[in-house]
Amino acid sequence: MLCIQKCDMHLFQTEEHKQPIVYQVETGLFFKLDPLFKAILACCEGLSVAQVVQMLAEQYEAEEIVEAIEELAQVGLISDGALPVVSNVPTTEGVAACGVSQTDRLQVSFHVSHTCNIQCAYCFAHGGDYGGKAMLMQPDVAEQAIRWIITEAQALGRCQIDFFGGEPLLNFPLLCKLVPFAKSLGARLGVQVGFGIVTNGTLLTDEMKQFLVDERDQINVSLDGGRKTQERIRKFHNGSGTYDVVAKNVQKLTDEVPERVYLQAIMTAYDMDEDQIADELRSLGTENALVGPAVVSSDAPYAIREEHIPVLKQQIHKRSRRALKAILSGEEGKDEEFDPRIQKLLTRKKSCQGCRGGTQYLAVAADGSIYFCSSLADAPEF
Ligand code: SF4
Repeated sequence: MLCIQKCDMHLFQTEEHKQPIVYQVETGLFFKLDPLFKAILACCEGLSVAQVVQMLAEQYEAEEIVEAIEELAQVGLISDGALPVVSNVPTTEGVAACGVSQTDRLQVSFHVSHTCNIQCAYCFAHGGDYGGKAMLMQPDVAEQAIRWIITEAQALGRCQIDFFGGEPLLNFPLLCKLVPFAKSLGARLGVQVGFGIVTNGTLLTDEMKQFLVDERDQINVSLDGGRKTQERIRKFHNGSGTYDVVAKNVQKLTDEVPERVYLQAIMTAYDMDEDQIADELRSLGTENALVGPAVVSSDAPYAIREEHIPVLKQQIHKRSRRALKAILSGEEGKDEEFDPRIQKLLTRKKSCQGCRGGTQYLAVAADGSIYFCSSLADAPEF
């Protein structure tokens, strides 16, 4: 007799209506539960259908229990352990089996530099070198890695290479070589190659600006908001502030391609007014403002700690409601983070899995090592 297995899920309740809701990790879908479904999920793990019926027999008819079990199985919240497992490998078949669009792509953070010219208090890369040797990626390593990426991306037909660091513009000559190399290899192997960059925006020369404008699909500049916030956390090595130079360089980019410039702020306990931070970013000429919380040890003075959670929750509610209202009234979405999630919920579109690290997202470190994610590049055991 086969035993019921629950999928990876989290059960919680809405604050307002106390309605039980389950979040299915693999697909990113949410389901409202009525009491019978909740009761089944609470007791079914490892039991047979007959045993579940027996357990709930005092409260429900056998027929309605069996129907509810079938419904839970249909949406993938439970299985009988005999169902085929969908591959996590990004093959064409695997992707199709997950119901994900064939327009998905292999996305790679390409660490052309493991060194940086500024110091941010919260730097996840230990100041740019990821706790190892400060280095720039060498051309032979870079070409070998690009060959591997584009070959791996053939199943999907598309890849996105995001130049990353440390500070990637410290290795600008390499970028100038790699872009045409990757484009021509992609054309030969039938892979559409897109490019992006994540830069601190301090080193931009006119030549670099033109290169980014001509070649980059997406130009991400890290900037933490207005002058006061930025100067406190993101400084040059001599301790002077970076705001003026970054703001001037961002303006040069937004004067030419505002729709492709994304300003990314890390929010710390020093300044938790997310709307104000986003407005300060937008004042530099782009609508694309992304604000995310710093993930640092809780003893850092700027760390977001437990006492800040109510403020964060309030902001999340405010943003998600604003995004939902805009979507329902047919406006073009502006919230990079919430819009895709809300659209997915409204259209009931499944995703292959919550985090794509190690499947459709990878990081290549400056020495050519491959990681599931950039934030693991300081941990050789991965
Ligand atoms: S710009 Fe990036 S790599 Fe450089 S110190 Fe700041 S967070 Fe670290």
